[in-house]
Amino acid sequence: MTGAVSLLETLQQAVPLAGFTSFRVGGLAQFYDEPASVEAIATAWQWARLADFPVTFLGAGSNLLISDRGLPGLVLNLRRLQGATFDLATGCVEVAAGEPIPRLAWAAARQGWSGLEWAVGIPGTLGGAVVMNAGAQGGCMADILQSVQVITDQGLETWSREQLQYDYRHSVLQTGHACVVSAQLQLQPGFERSQVLTTTSTNFRQRKRTQPYHLPNCGSVFRNPEPQKAGRLIEACGLKGYQIGDAQVSELHANFILNCGAARAQDILSLIRHVQGTVGDHFGVNLHPEVKLLGEFQDVI
Ligand SMILES: Cc1cc2nc3c(=O)[nH]c(=O)nc-3n(C[C@H](O)[C@H](O)[C@H](O)COP(=O)(O)OP(=O)(O)OC[C@H]3O[C@@H](n4cnc5c(N)ncnc54)[C@H](O)[C@@H]3O)c2cc1C
Repeated sequence: MTGAVSLLETLQQAVPLAGFTSFRVGGLAQFYDEPASVEAIATAWQWARLADFPVTFLGAGSNLLISDRGLPGLVLNLRRLQGATFDLATGCVEVAAGEPIPRLAWAAARQGWSGLEWAVGIPGTLGGAVVMNAGAQGGCMADILQSVQVITDQGLETWSREQLQYDYRHSVLQTGHACVVSAQLQLQPGFERSQVLTTTSTNFRQRKRTQPYHLPNCGSVFRNPEPQKAGRLIEACGLKGYQIGDAQVSELHANFILNCGAARAQDILSLIRHVQGTVGDHFGVNLHPEVKLLGEFQDVI
């Protein structure tokens, strides 16, 4: 009862979601909450289930394209669930879902613990990185994740890495039926602090040089059709700089789409479809979006 009362105090209606995504687009959440504890998440989840509302989880919104029409039901933003505890004896780190990944990577580097040097330029949360199997520069979450605590319809559960069925930018968590609340990562302590810090800084600088951080975007829009690179195929089609509305294929890295000011989610999706169609016609390759589309769109292919 106490939980339900405090939920009603923090629950908001008709909240604009654009400011919670790195693309800076998206309509209103019908209901919105930022639970700061596992109990608060469980209470909000239960409330939505009883009301028969869909529930959408949000981390830093750095891999999302949310419809201009917004999202029905309850949006739970996990960003207030922060913190990381380093176990000096074992090299294990217990991390809360809303912990920013770059902050975690720098904290590990400062301890001289190896394993997160690749993660420093990924502007997401731990929860989003676990769900997406985020990765860069040769590393990914699947390499270091030991287990994860999730809330499901059955309550709080611990899942092993094997249960997540990790693959390239894939996990079973992408079905949206479980909320990640924390995870245990196994890092490697005992390195020279300066060595881990140097690798981390080098990775960060390299990303800043090769990827556009100056305008809103979602990172790589398409999964790489291994062994090929989506960016190279898009560039070879002459699409760098191609624009629909205020959505533009980046001149710096063709697998990035930029919001140059007032792009709508629909403009970005139209550009995604245009790129897919053009690359398909030129190379016979189907590009699959890595970015998650949430909500209703008027599709264009
Ligand atoms: C400039 C830039 C660079 C990027 N570079 C990379 C890169 O190098 N490598 C890479 O892999 N990605 C990259 N990304 C994409 C993005 O940062 C990652 O996918 C990141 O892991 C997403 O985390 P998030 O917290 O923002 O998740 P969100 O975008 O908020 O959500 C992503 C998915 O996870 C779900 N989700 C989020 N939190 C939870 C939770 N606690 N429980 C259950 N479900 C949840 C959401 O519902 C959604 O389906 C980049 C993005 C940007 C903007």
